[in-house]
Amino acid sequence: MSGMTEMVRKITLSRAVRIMQNLFPEEYNFYPRSWILPDEFQLFVAQVRMVKDGDPSWKPTFIVKPDGGCQGDGIYLIKDPSDIRLAGTLQSRPAVVQEYICKPLLIDKLKFDIRLYVLLKSLDPLEIYIAKDGLSRFCTEPYQEPSPKNLHHVFMHLTNYSLNIHSGNFVHSDSTSTGSKRTFSSILCRLSSKGVDIKKVWSDIISLVIKTVIALTPELKVFYQSDIPAGRPGPTCFQILGFDILLMKNLKPILLEVNANPSMRIEHEQELSPGVFENVPSLVDEEVKVAVIRDTLRLMDPLKNKREKQSQPHKKPLAGKEGPSDCEPAGTSDTNPNPEAHLPSICLKQVFPKYAKQFNYLRLVDRMANLFIRFLGIKGSMKLGPTGFRTFIRNCKLSSSSLSMAAVDILYIDITRRWNSMTLDQRDSGMCLQAFVEAFFYLAQRKFKMLPLHEQVASLIDLCEYHLSLLDERRLVCGRSSTAGVRPPGRSTPQGATPSAQQVEGHPPCCTNSAHKSSRPRHALS
Ligand code: ADP
Repeated sequence: MSGMTEMVRKITLSRAVRIMQNLFPEEYNFYPRSWILPDEFQLFVAQVRMVKDGDPSWKPTFIVKPDGGCQGDGIYLIKDPSDIRLAGTLQSRPAVVQEYICKPLLIDKLKFDIRLYVLLKSLDPLEIYIAKDGLSRFCTEPYQEPSPKNLHHVFMHLTNYSLNIHSGNFVHSDSTSTGSKRTFSSILCRLSSKGVDIKKVWSDIISLVIKTVIALTPELKVFYQSDIPAGRPGPTCFQILGFDILLMKNLKPILLEVNANPSMRIEHEQELSPGVFENVPSLVDEEVKVAVIRDTLRLMDPLKNKREKQSQPHKKPLAGKEGPSDCEPAGTSDTNPNPEAHLPSICLKQVFPKYAKQFNYLRLVDRMANLFIRFLGIKGSMKLGPTGFRTFIRNCKLSSSSLSMAAVDILYIDITRRWNSMTLDQRDSGMCLQAFVEAFFYLAQRKFKMLPLHEQVASLIDLCEYHLSLLDERRLVCGRSSTAGVRPPGRSTPQGATPSAQQVEGHPPCCTNSAHKSSRPRHALS
């Protein structure tokens, strides 16, 4: 999927999640506090010092991860921000430094993480599937809370398979419930036998996945529109993502990272005699990954989708009947009649739009991205020029006696310059989506004082969408009387938070404002 590799880089993911943390701190507390290096080094030092001054008993550990790294490469733990300087090159090498989760859930005294496979079937409309089973990858040295003595013990702190395979303690097992790589369902069974509410664990994981995808989709849409021409049915893009998740001792899931290109290998290397290696099948990998690939092919089969549409023309979408708390834990069976009953049962479960009602209120940045895309102008561009930004302000009627167009220009220049000096991508000049979001937050805070940020932002989005829909209606009327079917000059967005000319055609142009509003309640998207 266009832009996915870029979006899941450590820095980009941290930025995207941080925007959501600013809007919804509680909902997004599943991602450890992170700072981007080298830009936020001073901020990191200052914030850590501030918390330490307030609470001298706080003895944190941090994990430093180079941007774009994988398989644990270049990762190390520190106890104090000053250790970063000692490590040398970091002032120049982009990285993320993150609070280290010191109390992970242990099994057999070992730290482990979970790799879950997620199918992003479609971006617009958003469709997410999660595999009912995943992999659990174990460390190979018993865990101890970080101390200066053990900080460098990678087999104790890092769960990467590619690292631990080199430990003498790595156990290849013929069973899916023992050894250094196991199925996640075997872990859940074990927890369940100890009385853990595994339905809750599973439902928290589903929430984490949906929220993370919601944080990633706005920018993916910007990538998508720059690659796929608007107004034409584009190719159907999908992506299998690998989510790496850590369970804390209190069973809260924490997002470690998202992989755009997760390994689908179903065999591992075995050393037969010193220096002689052979590839042997890995039962655990096979059990989990084959099902993911098989179901992805089943779900993405265009002929099957066509057949289904023909046979069920009036089938209603699944949207939001149950909450994630109703999600089935791994291994439970489907009750729906399955037209492919002769094939193994489906392992990929749809979670979005199934639970859309519970999560749509979080999709504010998505609606901002729709506005952003509308004003992009030049085809293929991903950055907003000064004229586009001015048009946005004018069309949404945001300038006033207290916000002159000159002030708007200064706002544009200030924010754009700062973002362009921070980001590595200097391909085109102009305002990127994240800079636009920052400007939008600023405008929302000015206009709707005293409200929490997410309400300020939601109110401003409502206002913008309202003015743009009026504009579209007016243009449609003009268009009808001159050239029938002419689209508004702004780019119509693929997902249309602002209705396109065709969508509006269904409504009488005399539609009252209140009627329009009521058809579009705040937070009700999709
Ligand atoms: P990579 O892409 O190099 O694998 P990750 O972000 O997945 O980088 O980190 C590697 C490993 O480090 C993880 O698998 C996990 O075991 C450990 N880890 C990463 N971040 C944290 C954290 N914030 N707290 C505790 N452990 C972490």
